[in-house]
Amino acid sequence: MILRTHYSGDITPEKAGIEVTLAGWAHEIRDLGGIAFLVLRDREGFAQITLLKKRVDPKVLETVRSISRESVVQVRGTVKAEPKAPRGFEVLPSDVKILSAAEAPLPLDPTEKVDCELDTRLDARFMDIRRPCILAGFEIESAVLRSLRECFYKNGITEVFTPKIVAAATEGGTDLFPISYFEREAFLNQSPQLYKQMLMGAGMDKVFEIGPIFRAEEHDTRRHLNEAISIDVEISFADDKDVMELLEGAVSGAYKYVSENCTRQLGVLGLDLQVPKVPFRRITYTEALELAKGRPGVEMKWGDDLDRETEKFLGETIGEHYFLTDWPSSIKPYYTLPYEDKPEVCRGFDLMHPRMELASGAQRVHDYKLLVERIKEKCLDPAGFEFYLKAFRYGMPSHSGWGLGLSRLVMTMLNLENIRDAVIFPRDRRRLVP
Ligand code: ATP
Ligand code: MG
Repeated sequence: MILRTHYSGDITPEKAGIEVTLAGWAHEIRDLGGIAFLVLRDREGFAQITLLKKRVDPKVLETVRSISRESVVQVRGTVKAEPKAPRGFEVLPSDVKILSAAEAPLPLDPTEKVDCELDTRLDARFMDIRRPCILAGFEIESAVLRSLRECFYKNGITEVFTPKIVAAATEGGTDLFPISYFEREAFLNQSPQLYKQMLMGAGMDKVFEIGPIFRAEEHDTRRHLNEAISIDVEISFADDKDVMELLEGAVSGAYKYVSENCTRQLGVLGLDLQVPKVPFRRITYTEALELAKGRPGVEMKWGDDLDRETEKFLGETIGEHYFLTDWPSSIKPYYTLPYEDKPEVCRGFDLMHPRMELASGAQRVHDYKLLVERIKEKCLDPAGFEFYLKAFRYGMPSHSGWGLGLSRLVMTMLNLENIRDAVIFPRDRRRLVP
């Protein structure tokens, strides 16, 4: 039997007279002259429990006085309209039970209005998430996932899972975490790229996967973690333009879903969410270089990767979501399809938020010979990719797809400073616990 009949959020002054059972945390206890208050906090907010000392059962008063802050309590009582109480109601308790007492002192104070150090918060994440503004962010993340999944289902895309323990790197390189796998070395997968492409050869036609990617990059930035959730899509018989349309629709759809369905959470965060308008602007890499010339002091040649400063400059100049398209083939992975008539340029794209990259995608190489050539051009050994290449020799449709970082989508949506704020238990170079 569930120990509550209502969340605090279900109660309004109009419910005056009804009996409710609430369960949650003792947010605050105030013992004044003739009256005492217990503020109970649950997922949905707060309820003021009012004890009139002359009228309340002395045993109930005694229990409330003995409650330590952040203990888990259950309160049964009657709703009373009270204009002076927050949200216009209070609960007059007939019974209060301490279900789990909290020790003192607390590792951090969930009522604290001032922000404490991120590290302290992450060390006591369970306590940090009790703060309504932190919880609201993760509830919105769940809504984002729901909206994305519904978008995928609506487009007839099948959800799949691919292995996270793998034998080879997706793109070569050193940013892999080795693990010991019986008598062999294996790795944590850095991307489902090769597997989702193989599924195109399997005739699954349209797939999506929402799962972890692992990157042993040593950087310490506000937008990178060593474990992240990637939202991956791959669609057969589609070109780069088709999947860009799907991507912008999915992203603006997530904003719309959150703005319509998470009004309470947005209120807690004090956010007025603007839904980005589709279509997003498309800017070619070459145009971006031209724009970047407006930034003093930097010389960039065609073929250079856009550095962080240029990325920021472009974001500030453009001021909204945009796509960067038509990249030099030399700086995009081997599986990105070069244009037939100008192979130095490819059908790769990045989805950018003014603050940072959110997603990368492309039309892929589906021709076996070209793929082997491209792998060699990148100084990689095709032999290491045999399991992947095999899927291209027996009938592989043209296909396109993308990978979108969940936490980057959420952190930019909610204007969070640091990606660690958008992940419940983040993993970086220094943090493996909790
Ligand atoms: P960046 O250039 O910003 O480091 P990337 O180009 O290396 O990103 P991709 O390999 O294109 O990243 O991965 C697709 C998406 O997955 C990225 O656009 C990003 O949203 C997310 N992502 C990739 N790596 C990380 C990471 N280390 N931490 C958080 N999210 C990541
Ligand atoms: Mg990228």
